[in-house]
Amino acid sequence: MSYSRRDFLSHLSLGLGSVVALPGLTMLDNTKRLSSAAGLAELPESEKLGVALVGLGRYATGQIAPALQETTLCRLAGIVTGTPRKEEEWGRKYDLPESNIYNYETYDQIADNDDIDIIYVVLPNSMHAEYSIRAAEAGKHVICEKPMATSARDCQRMIDASQKAGRKLSIGYRLHFEPHNKEMMRLGRSEVLGNAEQMSGTHSFPLNDPGAWRLDKELAGGGPLMDVGIYVIQAGLYTMGQLPTSVMAWDETQNPENFPEVEGTIRWELNFPKDAVLYGESSYEDRGNNFRLEATNGWAELSPAYSYSGIRGDTSEEPMDFPQVNQQALQMDDFARCILEDDRTIVPGEMGKRDMIIMEAIYESAETGREVSLDFDKEEGYIRPLAE
Ligand code: NAD
Repeated sequence: MSYSRRDFLSHLSLGLGSVVALPGLTMLDNTKRLSSAAGLAELPESEKLGVALVGLGRYATGQIAPALQETTLCRLAGIVTGTPRKEEEWGRKYDLPESNIYNYETYDQIADNDDIDIIYVVLPNSMHAEYSIRAAEAGKHVICEKPMATSARDCQRMIDASQKAGRKLSIGYRLHFEPHNKEMMRLGRSEVLGNAEQMSGTHSFPLNDPGAWRLDKELAGGGPLMDVGIYVIQAGLYTMGQLPTSVMAWDETQNPENFPEVEGTIRWELNFPKDAVLYGESSYEDRGNNFRLEATNGWAELSPAYSYSGIRGDTSEEPMDFPQVNQQALQMDDFARCILEDDRTIVPGEMGKRDMIIMEAIYESAETGREVSLDFDKEEGYIRPLAE
């Protein structure tokens, strides 16, 4: 069942009783977050913040543009594409003025376009840094897709550019706005199920297309870890609410001949304080989409855990019962709210850099066969607050 954002808000106001509240806990904070995003009344179309999408591939076409038809604080205002056919198709479909349609040669001219407030970078991974930095230099706020870049160094350059421009930078971590994942955050950090001892997660899908940019190290930066394993790392950190201290990892590619440039399968153990551990796996040779928390007095599980819709959750106490939401619409509206209220996004560039540091350590461990310590300085160690 797919709910629109408006359906979800009306569902919340009608049926809060259906939301699971485990013993000893107050109602989870999803409602608070949503009502705070909705706390700003829907803006008239002309006042919504304008979003321009850069890179009109599968995610932009299938998820982000449709989600922008459901947002209340921002709207699809422009596109950047290298394909003339898409200029015409998108222009017609979304009623975009010609002045808001750009290609890669004219990209920097967006600086002169007051109709566009936010640039959303949906390009292959290694292009994120350049296009996000140029967007900040054009005076625009930026949403950049995950993984934020292909090195922690590039992530820092992006953070610096947005700070220098006085603009905001956020990463497309949509699951921070998804009710089942938010419940997992709350359960992991609370005492209700006891202390978190062990977590495990898999995010994998078969990828057999030799021409895919995802298999090209230059464009992708890495394999399934950078593409989808990052969700398992994210889940581990938002469930623990703590930074990991070290990692051990293994490249377990089954058919190396199919993966000359990036790993086909990778497995890792991410260690947290008090002996808690996340067992993670990600592969282009298998299928998997789950996350499980084992705590001293119980467990909680999401399966599937990371999908656009259809996420389901269960716990040792009772099943989770939350509606499906339009994650991308909530994510973009929350960023628009942050801009309008000059608030800090809960998914900032610092979080993207933190994850990149962890993934670089995973690759280092897989390559050297040694455990790699993780030591974050204060700014690198961003953890999203729970109560938002
Ligand atoms: P895609 O291949 O479908 O689209 C990539 C787009 O970039 C295409 O429009 C392509 O024309 C354009 N492009 C420009 N220069 C290119 C070049 N040199 N090589 C290849 N393509 C080039 O990819 P996608 O699945 O839409 O992924 C785009 C980004 O979005 C990736 O960073 C990916 O990790 C991210 N993503 C995020 C989610 C999510 O749930 N948050 C889901 C899917 C993808």
